[in-house]
Amino acid sequence: MKKLINSTSSVVDEMIEGIVATSDRLAMLAGARVVVRSDFAALRDAGKVALISGGGSGHEPAHAGYVGQGMLTAAVCGDVFTSPSTDAVLAAIRTVGGPAGVLLIVKNYTGDRLNFGLAAELARAEGLDVRMVVVADDVALAQASETAGRRGLAGTVLVHKIAGAAAEAGLSLGEVSLAAQQAIDHLATMGVGLSPCIVPAAGKPNFTLAEDEIEFGLGIHGEAGVTREPFTNASDIVQRLCARVFDSLRLAPGDPVALLINNLGATPAMEMAIVAREALDQAVRRGLVVDAIWVGSFLTAIEMAGCSITALKLRPTMLEALRTPTAAPAWPGAGAGAGVVRRVAAQQAVSVPDRGGATAGDPRIRASLQAVIGALVEAESYLTGLDQQVGDGDLGLNLARGAKAIEAELDNLAGQHPADLLRSLSAITRRTVGGTSGALYAAGLLRAATTLQARDVPDRYDWSRALGEGARAIAELGDARIGDRTMLDALLPAVAVLEAEAESPGDAGAWLDEAVSAARRGVRDSSATASRRGRSSYLGARVIGVPDPGAEAVVVWLQAIRHALG
Ligand code: ADP
Ligand code: MG
Repeated sequence: MKKLINSTSSVVDEMIEGIVATSDRLAMLAGARVVVRSDFAALRDAGKVALISGGGSGHEPAHAGYVGQGMLTAAVCGDVFTSPSTDAVLAAIRTVGGPAGVLLIVKNYTGDRLNFGLAAELARAEGLDVRMVVVADDVALAQASETAGRRGLAGTVLVHKIAGAAAEAGLSLGEVSLAAQQAIDHLATMGVGLSPCIVPAAGKPNFTLAEDEIEFGLGIHGEAGVTREPFTNASDIVQRLCARVFDSLRLAPGDPVALLINNLGATPAMEMAIVAREALDQAVRRGLVVDAIWVGSFLTAIEMAGCSITALKLRPTMLEALRTPTAAPAWPGAGAGAGVVRRVAAQQAVSVPDRGGATAGDPRIRASLQAVIGALVEAESYLTGLDQQVGDGDLGLNLARGAKAIEAELDNLAGQHPADLLRSLSAITRRTVGGTSGALYAAGLLRAATTLQARDVPDRYDWSRALGEGARAIAELGDARIGDRTMLDALLPAVAVLEAEAESPGDAGAWLDEAVSAARRGVRDSSATASRRGRSSYLGARVIGVPDPGAEAVVVWLQAIRHALG
């Protein structure tokens, strides 16, 4: 187990200290694991109802993150996935409770019900007005009567918000309880787990899932779900969650709802956005009116991957309560509405007119292009292998993708004037290659194109100069020099050879051979050094001995051109 903790027994205390230390509006009770609004006394004196929630830890930001003006007055934190003690709850009630009374918002788990319930009983015996509501929004369990009943899940956070707005508005305990209960009665949640979580004290996952398995309807305590099913994809999984959630609320077209898309802990924000998109789509298909949607980590299960979807059927005043501002650090704000993907048109470029004419259909150009395409496709796995060692492993794939895109347009390309051809190649490269190489090659090809613009029929010296200008454009854009361990280590030595030929012309084949050799030498020399540019530069001495993939790629296409030209 690798966790950023110090000891399994100090997790909760250190976490609470961290939460309180990083907020100027929160405090903790001395001697009890309770997080309180630091202004709770003023609130009590103002005759406002106090709201207390809590439960086992491990669900952060629940519940301490919801303590603040407009939401909870206090959160009681148990051990990880363990109900807090009766005494801790009682300490919270005694501290923040005043004449207006206290509402306890409890998730439906036996331990929580008993400890919060007993604390309420004790507090009432001391003369305090205490009520309790129990959130049981989990709709995964079909037969609630055969189990301890539906569990309390992420929907609890919406209850905090609605009750919090009511308490902040100065409503009576009866009215605040009613608002909370009404939210509970219109709430449904179901979750799916992609990977389990590890309770620090246990040190290992509660259950294991194969690569292609997911748990539907799991709880938030690392427990397995209701069914284990094969993994499909985001759309399918979200559709099934939504169907269950919407059906259980008997939602009909025109019904207004709020949706809470909750990350169970380890799901990337990228995937959460995809889940939210699908959930909205499902709601819209059903004809629901989504008045608010929130996406994020609201009530987690440590580092479990997966999500839950909550729907709240909105009754009068609920939306307003959800939208009322709060100071609770974990509440994400007013929430978005609608669920329409708005698209605005992107500005199109003013196109450069083709130069046209002249060397149309030079067979050497076509042969060179074909040779480069073939060589890059063939070198894909070799280049990928190198990039896996010193980069991110995409270079071979990216260049092969570019080569195939060029191949698809070969007939059209091979007939263009060289300046137009290079411009087209630049555009194709920019669109299809991607990564560092895509941008650099696109820039180089574009600069090379401009140098050929004025030549009706470029000769080989013109091509050499074009290659040289292209290489210098790459050096400029990438801010790299020879010896930095980049493609330039191959490109610049080759260019130097070819540009020298313009000064003392000779046999083209021999010069080309020498250019390829110079490129090879460049790669070999640089593979003995550390990198100063690109991803490889983060690896320090670890790259030494491995040739730079981008430089090897230059050798690949340069050599292909050499062979094509006979
Ligand atoms: P990434 O995946 O990092 O976006 P690619 O896989 O497309 O990059 O290309 C990696 C190659 O790009 C490197 O092997 C190196 O030859 C080249 N490269 C990286 N940075 C530069 C730079 N600043 N200038 C020139 N070439 C560079
Ligand atoms: Mg790469």
